[in-house]
Amino acid sequence: MLIVACIKQVPDTTQVQIDPVTNTLIRDGIPFIVNPYDTHALEEALRLKDRFGCRVAAISMGPPNAEATLKKALALGVDHAILLSDRVFGGADTLATSNVLSAAIRKLHSDVDEVGLVLCGKQTIDGDTAQVGPGIASRLGYQQLTLVDRIVDMNFSGKIIRVSRKLEGRHEIVEAPLPAMLTVVRELNRPRYPKVPMRLAAADATVEVWNNQVLKLDEQKIGLKGSPTWVSKIFSPDRAVGEILGDGNSDPEGTAEMLIEKLLAKDMLPI
Ligand SMILES: Cc1cc2nc3c(=O)[nH]c(=O)nc-3n(C[C@H](O)[C@H](O)[C@H](O)COP(=O)(O)OP(=O)(O)OC[C@H]3O[C@@H](n4cnc5c(N)ncnc54)[C@H](O)[C@@H]3O)c2cc1C
Repeated sequence: MLIVACIKQVPDTTQVQIDPVTNTLIRDGIPFIVNPYDTHALEEALRLKDRFGCRVAAISMGPPNAEATLKKALALGVDHAILLSDRVFGGADTLATSNVLSAAIRKLHSDVDEVGLVLCGKQTIDGDTAQVGPGIASRLGYQQLTLVDRIVDMNFSGKIIRVSRKLEGRHEIVEAPLPAMLTVVRELNRPRYPKVPMRLAAADATVEVWNNQVLKLDEQKIGLKGSPTWVSKIFSPDRAVGEILGDGNSDPEGTAEMLIEKLLAKDMLPI
C-alpha cells in the first residue's frame, strides 16, 4: 500500500510583499518553505508508515527549485520524492493543478503500488483556495475527508478509515472506504525534525522529475491554457493608522478613561 503526501513550496508569508504597481507578489529574494499544513500531511503519512510499514511518496508540482521541498521530505523518510515540473505546467489554477497531481498519483498507483491514501494540507498559505485536495479526490474517484484533525482508526486490510473532522464548534467522526483523500489541519500532529544522518543522505538522494513527456497530459488541460481562473488583482487592505493614548507609563487610569471616552464617542461600547 502506498500513501501519497502532496506538498507545495510556498513563499514564507512573514516576508511576502506585494508590488503596488503590478499587484503581484514580490518573489525575488524571498525564502521558500513547505506549506505549513503540508508538513502535517507528511508527518501523518510517515506515522502510518512507522505503524503499518507502508511506503510513502511525496509529490510536488512547481518550478525546479521546488526540489528543495522534496529533499526535506526525503530527509524525513519518504520512499519516493517526485517533482512535477515542466514549463507547460506553469500558471496553473486549482483545476489544472488537480489535473497534474491526480495524473501523477494515477501513475504511482500503476507503477509503484496500490494507493490507499492521499494526504493534503487543508489549504496553502499563498493561494489559500483549499480546492486542490477535493479536486484530486474527485478526479480519482476517491472518498474525500476534509479538515481532519485525527485519524481515529485505520484498517488497511479492511480498507476502512475513520477520522475526526474539526468543524466550527464541533467535531464529526466519519468513516469511509479506502482509497481516500484527506485534507488535514495543524492539530493533527506535531511534525518531526529530520535527523542529521537522514539529512546527509537526502542531500545525495535523487528527486525524480516528471515532466509532461512522462505524464502525457493534454496541454489544453494543464498550466495556463488549462486554467479557467485568473487572479486579476492582489492587494493588501488599507489599514487605518493606530492612535497611541498616554505615554504608556505615568497615568494608566487616565489613559483608560481616555480610551473609554473615545470608544463611547464612536458608539463602540455597550452602555
Ligand atoms: C495569491 C494567490 C491567489 C491565488 N488565487 C487563486 C484562485 O482564486 N483560484 C485558483 O484557481 N488559483 C489561484 N491561485 C493559483 C494557485 O496557487 C494554484 O492553483 C495552486 O497550484 C493551487 O492552489 P492553492 O495554492 O490555492 O492550493 P490549495 O487548494 O489551498 O491547496 C490544498 C492542498 O493541495 C496540495 N497542493 C496544492 N498545490 C500543490 C502543488 N503545486 N503541489 C503539491 N501539492 C499541492 C497541498 O497539499 C495543499 O495543502 C492563486 C495563487 C496565488 C499565489
